[in-house]
Amino acid sequence: MMESKKANVNLSEFGKIIFFTGAGMSAESGVPTYRGSGGIWHKYNWQEYACQTAFDKNPTKVLKFHELRRASVLKCNPHDGHNFIGELQKNHENVTIITQNIDGMHQRAGTKNVVELHGSLWRMRCDDCNVLIEDIGKKYQNINCDCGKYLRPDITWFGDNLKSSVFENASNIIKKCDIFISIGTSGAVWPAAGLPSEAKRNGAYCIEINPEPTDLSSIYDEVIDCKASEINQYLSFHT
Ligand code: NAD
Ligand code: ZN
Repeated sequence: MMESKKANVNLSEFGKIIFFTGAGMSAESGVPTYRGSGGIWHKYNWQEYACQTAFDKNPTKVLKFHELRRASVLKCNPHDGHNFIGELQKNHENVTIITQNIDGMHQRAGTKNVVELHGSLWRMRCDDCNVLIEDIGKKYQNINCDCGKYLRPDITWFGDNLKSSVFENASNIIKKCDIFISIGTSGAVWPAAGLPSEAKRNGAYCIEINPEPTDLSSIYDEVIDCKASEINQYLSFHT
């Protein structure tokens, strides 16, 4: 591993690019991370708000909590780091974002090809009817499925499995990538935390961007100690 603050990686030299993002990507937008001060689970007990059991017991309480989260995310905006990735995508034909975030911030910066490993605050679903509905705004437009059941947020809650089709899609894209750049993830949440090793095993050049070392830092070819909003100082591309 090479530790560096001065890396200037020219992304135009790489064919298939992946950005793998976690909560640290949105921290400077004002969305708190889980690990560290201001984390939402210090204030709210996830057993009451973010698991299927809580939803089955009291769906409206869980939905109200998610509306609070939607309102707080809507007050935040994408930053220079999100915008850098969006711009790169306009100038490079093969850029995929695999995110653990549920806040939709990449898309708000105009980025496409976003694989949302843990779902989205802006979708609702009914597992019985196989229904998936986009729903953007502070308040949910509709909380009931046509079948009469409550729609649930399309988010991987505590105790849920990741959607296997989404995870397989991410793994397949990773197997073919040339460069894998992880930004703002602690590497503590599984199975997502296994994806950087998969990229490495398949021969991608792997870069970690994080102001703190993580459990996975040693597997990366390069570790850049910087904030997500500063990536344009270390990564570049030709227009
Ligand atoms: P995490 O909270 O475990 O770790 C956050 C990481 O971001 C840490 O390693 C920290 O050092 C780093 N970080 C903090 N500020 C940063 C900055 N300005 N720039 C770059 N890095 C910074 O996050 P995780 O690994 O993503 O795992 C937590 C789980 O909870 C994931 O599923 C995550 O997506 C989800 N979550 C999502 C959101 C969101 O949607 N914005 C917010 C909180 C948690
Ligand atoms: Zn239904």
